Amino acid sequence: MRLTGFGYAPPLLPDELLYSWLSRFSLLNALGTPRECMERLFACRTIVPGIDLPTRLQSVQRQLGDWLPFQTVDQILDFGTLFPYHRPFLTSHRHDTVRHALIYGDGKGLKTQMGRVANRFGANPSLRFCTKCVADSIAHYGSPYWDRRHQLPGVSCCIRHRIQLQHQPPLSQRTDRQRFVVLANWNAAQPHIRVCERQLRFAELSEALLSAALPVIDASQRASTYLHAALKLGFGTHRGRFDCSGLADAVRQRFEDFHGFEHRERLLTSSAHPLGWIRDLIKRPERSVHPICHLLLIEFLFGSISSFATACSITKNGMAAIEGVIRDQQVRPPSSTLLRTISDTEREALLCDSSLSCRQVAPLIGRSVTTVVVQRRMRGIPIHERRKSLNNAGIEKVRAELRSGDPLPAVAMRSSVSLSTVYRILAQYPSDRQPNSTQNSKPKVTERRQRWLSTMSAQEHAGVNAIRAAAPADYAWLYRHDRAWLMSNTKPIKKQPKSGLRIDWAQRDAELSQKAMAYAATLRTQSSPTRVTKTRLLRPLGESMVRKNVHRLPLLEDVLERMSESHADFRKRRVDHAIAMLACSVAGLQMWRVKRLSGLRIWSDELSNYANKEIERLNAQNSVCTNSLP
Ligand SMILES: [Zn+2]
Repeated sequence: MRLTGFGYAPPLLPDELLYSWLSRFSLLNALGTPRECMERLFACRTIVPGIDLPTRLQSVQRQLGDWLPFQTVDQILDFGTLFPYHRPFLTSHRHDTVRHALIYGDGKGLKTQMGRVANRFGANPSLRFCTKCVADSIAHYGSPYWDRRHQLPGVSCCIRHRIQLQHQPPLSQRTDRQRFVVLANWNAAQPHIRVCERQLRFAELSEALLSAALPVIDASQRASTYLHAALKLGFGTHRGRFDCSGLADAVRQRFEDFHGFEHRERLLTSSAHPLGWIRDLIKRPERSVHPICHLLLIEFLFGSISSFATACSITKNGMAAIEGVIRDQQVRPPSSTLLRTISDTEREALLCDSSLSCRQVAPLIGRSVTTVVVQRRMRGIPIHERRKSLNNAGIEKVRAELRSGDPLPAVAMRSSVSLSTVYRILAQYPSDRQPNSTQNSKPKVTERRQRWLSTMSAQEHAGVNAIRAAAPADYAWLYRHDRAWLMSNTKPIKKQPKSGLRIDWAQRDAELSQKAMAYAATLRTQSSPTRVTKTRLLRPLGESMVRKNVHRLPLLEDVLERMSESHADFRKRRVDHAIAMLACSVAGLQMWRVKRLSGLRIWSDELSNYANKEIERLNAQNSVCTNSLP
């Protein structure tokens, strides 16, 4: 079907964005204002055309029919947008949602779904172009256009010419949101900035991903492929687990901490766990992560997109075993769950079974090895002592110090061991330490109380805060251990006596009412009538103060009541004003003139009668006949 109203469709240029083709098409066919243009192209007057991921593709196809250089919407998606760049990293559910949104829907939440917003890489970067490519395109095709490869996220150079891309300043988001950005103001003579190999390599990889147009890869299959490759490269612990921080360090080293890369800060977050996205890619494959992260990991693990694709297909067929391992890891219940499944008797039996080592018992009862050691020691079960600096003699020394009842830090220092070692030994031999006897603390209380009382008497006129500042340690100790006594023996806070009345309200009332009357008179004599209301009168008097203290200002209240105008009064005053103006002018004093000059739209019978009477009275005074009263 060929729709009328279009004159010419330009051919699609190599790797041209649909957006770019539509902008050239609308220019060549003079499709009118941006709104009209959107109506013709997208069948929607309010749409904002998407650059890399345009929406309402089915409407575009329906509106343009044979004029469109793509046969199907899938062709548009594959060759006119950046959708193939994202597709392999979407879950199949998300892929279906996004595809549906691109074909039928609006763009709400689209880029969030695709992980473009995740990691804050910037969802709407400005359009980019290569000056040499633009010159070539003008020489060959007579027109510049937006190249799809140059709009890939994080790509800053042209692979063909090995120079840096230029940025087109974006149009105003407020006034030109619907306007197509046209490549303009480019300067062929601009110096070409050479780029480094790393930038080129990243651009090549991004382009390879785009042109590979990979299908959706199952998320867990993709994660298994990553994991398998990482383990194969030696990023596993001696227990066969994945060494995430080791891989992160190696990636940082390989890419030299992403120096010169646009999104360096984002990639290196957080400072505590740099490259946290690697863990997400492998351990939480369902999460949306920006394709840039995938690309960097693919480059590190596989070296190319094609190797990654091959590895994924191998994984699909032959890596069931690894997936099984991952599944097992995921379904293994946490230790606390395991603990609930064995009874106390069973745990006791396992602890007392000397044929099992502490290391063997720990996972069975869901406790750490240290806890098993501690509990076995408490039960007097012989334990194979590990070779370490703290031997039995050392432990005995600490125990002897503990019995002295001195503070634990002092015990640690005298025994030349760490404080945590002292705590550990104390946990194993709790009977070594006698609790503080109450007799010991008795003199302490008396001493503290006396000191507090003497401080108080020394500062007779001071408040609690001042006394507390003089004896902070005593206050803190008594507050913690002897609060009732402290409260009953401390002077209550002196309350500030209320000061006497400082404002003479009667005088203020008189002053304010005078001011209000004067202001009302001024308002009534203004050249253009303004309604005199209470609020308007209060404004110069300090409105909030008056409203708060209105019960103290009876005179003012009376003045406000008398001076303020009702709507009816104000209308009459406007009529009077108009009549007075007309009486002074050479124009006749007629009702229609009064109506026009007063600017009143609604005229009640009462108001009309009032105006007529006034006009008649004045006309009679001036002895002028009035013939045309309504
Ligand atoms: Zn170029």
